[in-house]
Amino acid sequence: MKAAVLYEVGKPLEIKDLSIEKPREEEVLVRMKAAGVCASDNHVIHGQIPYPTPIVLGHENAAIVEEVGPNVTNVKPGDTCITSFVSSCSECDYCRTGLGNHCSRHYSDPSIQHRQFDGTFRIKDSEGTEIYQMNKLGGFAEQQIVPASSLLVIPKEVPPEVAALIGCCVTTGLGGIVNIDNIKAGSTVAVFGCGGVGLNIIQGAKMLNCLKVIAVDIFDHKLEFAYKFGATDVINAKNEDPVEKIRDITGGGVDYSFDSFGSPAIMKQAVESLAKRGTAALVGLASPSSEVDINMVDLVRNEKNIIGSFYGYGSPLVTMKKIVDMYLAGKVNIDDLVRKVFKLEEINEAFADIDKGEDGRGVIVF
Ligand SMILES: [Zn+2]
Ligand SMILES: [Zn+2]
Repeated sequence: MKAAVLYEVGKPLEIKDLSIEKPREEEVLVRMKAAGVCASDNHVIHGQIPYPTPIVLGHENAAIVEEVGPNVTNVKPGDTCITSFVSSCSECDYCRTGLGNHCSRHYSDPSIQHRQFDGTFRIKDSEGTEIYQMNKLGGFAEQQIVPASSLLVIPKEVPPEVAALIGCCVTTGLGGIVNIDNIKAGSTVAVFGCGGVGLNIIQGAKMLNCLKVIAVDIFDHKLEFAYKFGATDVINAKNEDPVEKIRDITGGGVDYSFDSFGSPAIMKQAVESLAKRGTAALVGLASPSSEVDINMVDLVRNEKNIIGSFYGYGSPLVTMKKIVDMYLAGKVNIDDLVRKVFKLEEINEAFADIDKGEDGRGVIVF
């Protein structure tokens, strides 16, 4: 089967013919239908997120089940699925309390994050080199072995490009706002970064009937695009100080701010943009050594809150299921997020588009 492999950080992905094994206990062989091209994959390529190589990236996937291993009961051949990049076991304390994004089993051994749960590999190149799969998935390949617990069965009428995006950016962004308790209608929101995640926070804010939804980015065309998803005001941070402008628009600061990008400078601005008692949520993944410098008196005097938000701030599979139902009911816009469809062979062009700052999402369709 064909796959795009990252052999060396900083180099383009190489299309290789790989051998793939049979699914073992609690594993599933899937045939890929579509895979979103996410900024996190790009961070791995550029070395900002240190992952082992060679690796098949791709963690935003729609696939069809081909074959199941022993003891798989949640899916059967022919099922259409979305993958979760946290394979929630449903039995640990986190999973049982609705926090499958923190599953203890999934995170029990970081050394096997990109191998199967038994610590072994399922794919090899023609030289016999074993190849890692990003978060046990590796969607930039025609086929993959994935943990059964990563799969959510969905109705066949959801288009594969749409289903793929629900696997990461839609769930992270939309879940990242709608799963915060007690956001009141009429709240004010600022969203830093208008990529796939940021646009979904924006449309979540619109769903929650937020009064002001302020989009911040450094590309005018991305800000223009943000209006489509519900932004009421936009700020180009290249031309204006976003903190000052947000205070100006809202008369003092927003109730909620989101850093969808994941950088210390933006996170600092997100906190500074808050009204008293406001909450700043960090949704984007920064590089592992990043630290943020925040004024402590500002936090105390103004009773500001800071939260981290990972993979939709709740159980990914539950959030995904809700989003699928909302999509089929016409309540969430995912179609417009799909900017361009690529073949697997064109994957390096899709990543070049991220570097150029194109809006929406590129999706590999198989
Ligand atoms: Zn992603
Ligand atoms: Zn668990």
